[in-house]
Amino acid sequence: MNPALESWTQAARRALPAMRAWREVFHREPELSNQEHKTREKVLRALSELGIPYRTFDDLAGVVALLGADRTGPVVALRADMDALPLEEATGLPYRSTVPGKMHACGHDIHMAAVLGAAMLLARERPDGGPVKLLFQPAEEDGLLGGAGPLIEHGCLERPRVDYVLGLHVDPGLPLGQVGWGVGPFMAAADYFRIVVRGKGGHASTPQQGPDAVLVASEVVVGLQALASRVRHPVDPVVVTVGSIHGGTRHNILPEEVVLEGTVRTVRPGTRDLIESALKRRVRALAASLGARVLISYRRGYPALINPPEATERVARAVEVELGKKNVLRLDEPMMGAEDFARYLEKVPGTFLRLGVGQSTRPASLHSASFAPDERAMVVGAATLASATLALQGPGP
Ligand SMILES: [Zn+2]
Ligand SMILES: [Zn+2]
Repeated sequence: MNPALESWTQAARRALPAMRAWREVFHREPELSNQEHKTREKVLRALSELGIPYRTFDDLAGVVALLGADRTGPVVALRADMDALPLEEATGLPYRSTVPGKMHACGHDIHMAAVLGAAMLLARERPDGGPVKLLFQPAEEDGLLGGAGPLIEHGCLERPRVDYVLGLHVDPGLPLGQVGWGVGPFMAAADYFRIVVRGKGGHASTPQQGPDAVLVASEVVVGLQALASRVRHPVDPVVVTVGSIHGGTRHNILPEEVVLEGTVRTVRPGTRDLIESALKRRVRALAASLGARVLISYRRGYPALINPPEATERVARAVEVELGKKNVLRLDEPMMGAEDFARYLEKVPGTFLRLGVGQSTRPASLHSASFAPDERAMVVGAATLASATLALQGPGP
């Protein structure tokens, strides 16, 4: 591409029909975490169309492709997640899901198509550019093990060694045409907990005979909120949410046990340790004070996503040139959602961006049955990834 003649955005506009076709094929046949086998076949077909060699794995649905093995310069990896969600689609779109109870409601179909689009642009317009790896990653929605860790264990960041990694996620909170970036904590660490409160079952009219699991569980729910308000520093973000509470069968029976499940979100490793130990201590103390027993299981999910300053600022400057300053927003507050892209950033520098898909009538939120992002966001996504790749492959600031 002659940069004087054409922008990445103009080239990406011409790639939109191809991206749309890929995306609609992904969208029609969504697959859940670690079941992305048909999706993988579709990715492989697209890579073959583009003439980009790839490698696959027997025990993981991911794909690692390499554009320009003979090129020199820093290796930039572009990552797209592949999985969908257990939701019945209610968008009414012509290319809606054909699989009952499954839907691409987090935009991972858009991510795959935008990464393929960026690869198409980089292959066709910049044959003199550096090598580009494409990481198609399963199981982002899994939340605990995820797919990034296993893909890294399968060597996706080696042979050739990746110097920078880039990823993005659609964001209905940002208008179409805009991209959000941020330095430092950008998304939260997410941990899972399950608390079983054991009381004494019996008739509701004789609660004095033993600890009431419902009452103890209620104290636990309330008591946990003090972790977010009284244990950490006031400006250090923490979320503690109990999302599920189950116990009892009838209004006049005291149940033997109540089960609580929830999530803890933090952005600093020290705070993550602090909240985990405080949660266990608090729950045991509350239960003991009321004579009940508790079993606590606490499992760590994805780490916090930390965008390193140098690579992030280089990318932001390049994307500003591409999209115009007003369309590139610095986001200073981390989002308390989690992303296993964080695991790549634990190994190599790079950055994670947000891609606006909001319209005048805002699309429904992520993970909603009516989530219908505007496909034109793929033009912005592909142009952003292509210009960011070149920025990271070029000379430093
Ligand atoms: Zn999601
Ligand atoms: Zn997602």
